[in-house]
Amino acid sequence: MTSTTLPAMDSRWRGFSLGELDEILERNQRIDAIEEQTCPHCGRDSLRTYLHGSERGGTAMTLTHFWCSRCRHYTGWPTPGRSGFWFSDPLADTSWNRFLALSRSEDAFFETLDALWANTLLPQRIQHA
Ligand SMILES: [Zn+2]
Repeated sequence: MTSTTLPAMDSRWRGFSLGELDEILERNQRIDAIEEQTCPHCGRDSLRTYLHGSERGGTAMTLTHFWCSRCRHYTGWPTPGRSGFWFSDPLADTSWNRFLALSRSEDAFFETLDALWANTLLPQRIQHA
């Protein structure tokens, strides 16, 4: 008798594959799409975006996060801050150390972001000068 295995319900967060990452990058050359978009992994309209501004060594940075809670894939990268580009940030008052600690736990981090999304504090409002 074969042992029954659970259906594929792996709840661990994983990074997108390189091909999927390419797709996201290509679509988001300009950070204008802040609404949910099609997830390159599961194909549902559940890929979300969150931008967080920070300052490292006197240089303004924007941390961009993409995640899909449906298939639990995510990615993120830092870019130099752009002048004339403004976005609302419900976590703006979070200290850098606290933000770093939060973002290190994918479960806690994306749970927080999804809660903000449910509270309509996300998606963010963005503005170009
Ligand atoms: Zn997905």
